[in-house]
Amino acid sequence: MYENILIAIAWPYANADIHVGNITGSHLPGDIVARYHRLKGNKVLMVSGSDSHGTAITIKADQTGQTPHEIYSHYHPRFVELFQRLGIGYDLFTSTHTENHFSIAQKVFLSLLENGYLNKQVSKQWYSPALQRFLPDRYVEGTCYFCGNEAARSDQCEQCGNELEAEKLINPRSKVDGSTPELKETEHFFLDLSTLEPKIQEFLNEREDYWRPNVLRQSLGTIQSVGLKPTSVTRDLEWGIPVPLEGWEGKCLYVWFEAVMGYLSSSVEWGNLNDQADVWRDWWTNQEAKSLYFIGKDNITFHAVTWPAELLGMGDDFDRRMENPSPKPLVLPYDVPANEFMNLEGKKISGSHNWAVWGLDALDRYDSDPLRYYLTVAMPENRDSDWDWEDFFQRNNNELVATWGNLVNRVLSFTWKHFEGKIPNPTELRESDLELLEAIKAGFESVGNRIERVELKAALAEAMRLASEVNKYLDVHAPWFEIKTDRAEAEKSLYTAIQAIVWLKIMFAPFLPNTCEKLHQILDSKTPLFGRPFTREISDSLGSHLVLSLDHEDSLAKEGSNFWVAQELVGDMPFNQPEVLFKKLDHSIVEEERNRLGNPTA
Ligand SMILES: [Zn+2]
Repeated sequence: MYENILIAIAWPYANADIHVGNITGSHLPGDIVARYHRLKGNKVLMVSGSDSHGTAITIKADQTGQTPHEIYSHYHPRFVELFQRLGIGYDLFTSTHTENHFSIAQKVFLSLLENGYLNKQVSKQWYSPALQRFLPDRYVEGTCYFCGNEAARSDQCEQCGNELEAEKLINPRSKVDGSTPELKETEHFFLDLSTLEPKIQEFLNEREDYWRPNVLRQSLGTIQSVGLKPTSVTRDLEWGIPVPLEGWEGKCLYVWFEAVMGYLSSSVEWGNLNDQADVWRDWWTNQEAKSLYFIGKDNITFHAVTWPAELLGMGDDFDRRMENPSPKPLVLPYDVPANEFMNLEGKKISGSHNWAVWGLDALDRYDSDPLRYYLTVAMPENRDSDWDWEDFFQRNNNELVATWGNLVNRVLSFTWKHFEGKIPNPTELRESDLELLEAIKAGFESVGNRIERVELKAALAEAMRLASEVNKYLDVHAPWFEIKTDRAEAEKSLYTAIQAIVWLKIMFAPFLPNTCEKLHQILDSKTPLFGRPFTREISDSLGSHLVLSLDHEDSLAKEGSNFWVAQELVGDMPFNQPEVLFKKLDHSIVEEERNRLGNPTA
């Protein structure tokens, strides 16, 4: 009855801090869905890590005169700090610069080679005559031949999302010194996507009825328009995972080819860290398991086409290399609910122009749940969205505080004061009490179904609608007036309202884990809802790396027990003195925050 759910979240490049667009694009939606499934008692594994390789890092290193490892070592712990403070509950947030990931990625490479899906080809790569070395794709920019974007990366256009072929790039130039690079012959391995195309087509067709239209459009569109072509998976670059073959020294696995393997390698690492070396197979070779990939729209091709191609191409050879005597093929993505982009005050977020709301910076001024609330209501699920400080202010005060926070606060404070800190224990409920409770109880299904379909904005709106229903009920059955004439009536109203709050606490918990945990404690629950995050430093042959994990031991939301259900509130139970869950903001923050934003034209 319980399911195995893998929550695979896009690996952030360790070359810049994480901003609200990254959070709402992948980390937060993944966390919400993971928390929901944990409350349901499903066996959840939520993984990601720092993408420490590739030219996004080496460019930054060249710019700042540091080594790529120093760049990665600066940002990686900041990611870990952000996720802890924002309540992004990774079972494992690790890194691609680990002995484990190197080993898994090299096994994947060898499996694909063994099965005949990697072919050597001499191709042309950018070469700088001035520097006398090959230039990674990212070092070269030019004009996109699909959309005309003049600042397109030579391998992928960020504006239209298309992968680009170097030969066709218009007006190429080197980002190192502005000189014009030339294309020079070099030998590389290519993943034979054209042979795998029918299988990928079938994989996509099987998911046609429930995938987001934009994800299908982009992945099927490429197949239908131009067909899949072999794509190079190695690079002339020192910083990365070496090609595990003799004679290939100085070349490494292409960062996109190996970074997507992180979902697999981090699952293996998590098992090893927990002395369960085989447990990764519960999600990876169990065809009943569901894997959901939370990414932004710029990564759709790599997750809906390239990564499935790698998985299909490996067949059961990878499991065999992991020493399974009866090896099985790996599980293909169940869903890739890619988000669109979040803009900021009507303009595209730009880290380099400081036109961004940075996660850690925002957490210095706001609590995590108000940020998570706004990042969910403004989540770019089906179209680009906008972070607007006025809207943030309004949503916080008029929805989070007014509808949910005040409901909890006035009901619990009043009960605390008039019923000696105990839940009232009415003899019998009225028709209208039972009606309200039926309506709220239905939320376990209506909110839950929406989360399962990854319609998170709708799910949160539904929970908020139910909270409004309780407020409407209290407008009619105002216990603060009832108590003056008939204490028994007030008991019924308060018991009913607290029962509704207890259920809403569960429904809001995936979205607002920190305040729901606080409410859970106020209601005197001894065991926390969710696990406790902790970090540790792991040493290996490449040095050491910090990992973020979650200890589920002392928590309700874990494998094998369903708390996403309407549990009956016991009357006469003592509870703890209520405290305010959400703060009302002053309108002055809108102007203050807008003044912080950098000038994008500067
Ligand atoms: Zn383009």
